[in-house]
Amino acid sequence: MQIAKDIAERTGGSSATARDMIDPFGRAITYLRVSVTDRCDFRCVYCMAEDMTFLPKRDLLTLEELDRLSSTFVEKGVRKLRLTGGEPLVRRNIMHLIRSLSRHLDSGALDELTLTTNGSQLHRFADELADCGVKRINVSLDTLDPDKFKSITRWGDFDKVMNGIRAAQAAGIKIKLNAVALKGFNDAEIPAMIEWAHGQGMDMTLIETMPLGEIDGDRTDQYLPLSQVRANLSERFTLTDIPYKTGGPARYVEIAETGGRLGFITPLTHNFCESCNRVRLTCTGTLYMCLGQEDAADLRTPLRASEGNELLSNAIDEAIGRKPKGHDFIIDRTTRKPAVGRHMSVTGG
Ligand code: SAM
Ligand code: SF4
Repeated sequence: MQIAKDIAERTGGSSATARDMIDPFGRAITYLRVSVTDRCDFRCVYCMAEDMTFLPKRDLLTLEELDRLSSTFVEKGVRKLRLTGGEPLVRRNIMHLIRSLSRHLDSGALDELTLTTNGSQLHRFADELADCGVKRINVSLDTLDPDKFKSITRWGDFDKVMNGIRAAQAAGIKIKLNAVALKGFNDAEIPAMIEWAHGQGMDMTLIETMPLGEIDGDRTDQYLPLSQVRANLSERFTLTDIPYKTGGPARYVEIAETGGRLGFITPLTHNFCESCNRVRLTCTGTLYMCLGQEDAADLRTPLRASEGNELLSNAIDEAIGRKPKGHDFIIDRTTRKPAVGRHMSVTGG
C-alpha cells in the first residue's frame, strides 16, 4: 500500500494498479520511446560517423510488429509514446504506424503520442500528424545559421527544416526545440536561439553531449557543461526555476525577458536517474532499460514465438525487473572511447 502511495506521488497522482510495470526501485514505467529506424537523412557530427553501416532491412521489425509491441506496452501501463530514430519520418509508410497507434489516444489509454524529428520531412507530414492527434513534437536544431547547420548535420537542408517547423505550427502542433550544446560551435549563439524560439512560441531545451557510439571526431572537444551555459545565460537573462515537467528529464527555468521556458538536460553534470520512468525499444525489438547501460532484453523472439501476447508480456516484466538504478556516463579522457558503444540513433535518445 505504501509503495502504491509512493508511486502515486511520483507519477503525479495516478495510483498504481496490478498491471502497471514497476521496477525494482519503485519507479512506474509509463513512458516508452520507440526507435522506428536507425537510418537518417542527416549525419550530425556528434551523433553519427559520415560513413555509417546501418542494420540490414530484414532485421527490422515490420510496422505491424512495432504496433503490436508498442500496444502491449500501452496495455501494461505506458501513457506516453515517443517515436524517434534515426529519423522517424524517413521510415517508409511511417504514417500507417502513427495512424494506427492514434487509436490508443482515442480510447484514452494513451495520454500522448509524439515524436522527435530533425524536421526534414515535417513539411510533408505536419497536417497528417495533427490529424492523428499529435499535439507536441520535439524538433532538433543546433544553430540558426544555414552554413553552420550544413557543417553540423553534414547533409541537412536548413530551409527545408524551417519550412517544416512553419508547417507544423500552422497545423497547430506545439514545437519544442532541442539543441545540443557544443563547445566552440553554438555556445555564442545560444542566447539568440532562445530569443528566436521563444519569439516563435516554442519552448527550447539544451542537451549536453552524451558519449554514445564511435563518431569521427573527439567528444572531449565538444563537451560543454550546461552548468557553464546556465551561468553565462544568467548574466544576460533572469532565469527562474519552475516545476514544469513534460515527463522527461529536463529541468526548466522561465526567462523573464522572453516569457518562454528553457529546459536543461544534463546527463553528465547532474544525475537524472532517480525519477526515470522510461524504457527504450529499438527497431529490431531490443529493449534498453537504461540509455547509459548495455543491458538489454530481446523482445523480438517472444513477439514472433506466438500470436498471443503472453510470452511477450512475461518478457517485458522480466526486463523491467532488471532496470538498473542509473547510468554512469563518463567521457574517458585516457582512451577517449565512448562510455556506451551504440549510437544514439540506435536507441533514439
Ligand atoms: N533524428 C531525430 C532528431 O535528430 O531529432 C531523432 C533522433 S536523434 C538521435 C534524438 C536527439 O538526440 C536529437 O535531439 C539529437 O540532437 C540528440 N543526440 C544525438 N546524439 C547525441 C549525443 N551523442 N549526445 C547528446 N545528444 C545527442
Ligand atoms: Fe540523424 Fe537525429 Fe542523429 Fe542528426 S541527431 S544524425 S538527425 S538521428
